[in-house]
Amino acid sequence: MKALSLWFLKKRRDLPWRKDHDPYRIWVSEIMLQQTQVATVIDYYERFLKRFPTLSSLAQSTEQEVLTLWSGLGYYRRAKNLRLGAQYLIAKGGDFPKTRSEILEVPGIGPYTAGAILSIAFDLPEALVDGNVQRVFARYFGIGSAIQTSTAQKLFWERASEWVKKAESPRIHNQALMELGALICHKGIPLCHQCPISKNCVAFEKGLQKKLPVSKPRKQTLELHWIGIIFYQQKKQGPDLYFVKQNVNTPWWEGLWDFPSIEKSLPNSWEMAPQLLHAKIGKDLLLKPLNHVQHSVTHHKIRMAPFLINTKKELLGIKGKWLSLPAIAELPLSSLAKKIFRQLPL
Ligand code: SF4
Repeated sequence: MKALSLWFLKKRRDLPWRKDHDPYRIWVSEIMLQQTQVATVIDYYERFLKRFPTLSSLAQSTEQEVLTLWSGLGYYRRAKNLRLGAQYLIAKGGDFPKTRSEILEVPGIGPYTAGAILSIAFDLPEALVDGNVQRVFARYFGIGSAIQTSTAQKLFWERASEWVKKAESPRIHNQALMELGALICHKGIPLCHQCPISKNCVAFEKGLQKKLPVSKPRKQTLELHWIGIIFYQQKKQGPDLYFVKQNVNTPWWEGLWDFPSIEKSLPNSWEMAPQLLHAKIGKDLLLKPLNHVQHSVTHHKIRMAPFLINTKKELLGIKGKWLSLPAIAELPLSSLAKKIFRQLPL
């Protein structure tokens, strides 16, 4: 264990959230890093902290401001919960709790984030298990159950807890474990000959590195074919206006802004799209096709055929706003909306 910590102190990456032990900054980084690559997070993290340097500045923000800064990172519930969590903490006096049970009460803080804040910010011997730790432990202890199963999860958390309790510095130890998974014991073929804990590693000893960890098969990707509807009004004076709506109660991009769409899976061809669209909005309106766009979210691949439609009428009974393109650029847009937006004449 000591070797692991020493290795980390020599080899750790210089990352912006490692400059101090401020719990707020660590919390923001940990939430951003969930499901997202380090290289992607760095810019977002720096912009977010510039706009919201403190817990109270985040607590005072609007959801739209937070979503705008988060736009493109995905998994937007994280951003909303971060803001709600800041409001919760400010209402409780503005300090981060220092026990696992109390910190788990904060909106959006789960077992992993709790362990990360308590150990990295406060140097408390609290365990954490993320994807990197799962991979290291599955190999090191030779755990053959699929990592998603409760059997494997129980083992990971027990081992992580045993290790961190023995560590000289929980702060260093937990970061070292995750860094090892990211840099040495990575996916594919790990760099066992550079590994500080190879001596007692089951996978290394038995040559099982490629077989571990075991993972449940991924869900098959579902392809969805949607029609994008970009209503616009040409103005003689002033900029043209485009119709956008905010997503409410949607499976993805909740709270973000979008152009309306017919979210109906079409058969493999797009030939039916104009016919379907005319049936919805009336035959007299002219459809101008834009380039198709696509985006992957969870295990879905959405392919969209967008159409520009010049109309002054409120159509389809959708609640939304008519805005100029510069005003739309200020909104937190969904990834699909951004891809359509780039095709519009600014
Ligand atoms: S020895 Fe290899 S397989 Fe074992 S923990 Fe280190 S890098 Fe991973």
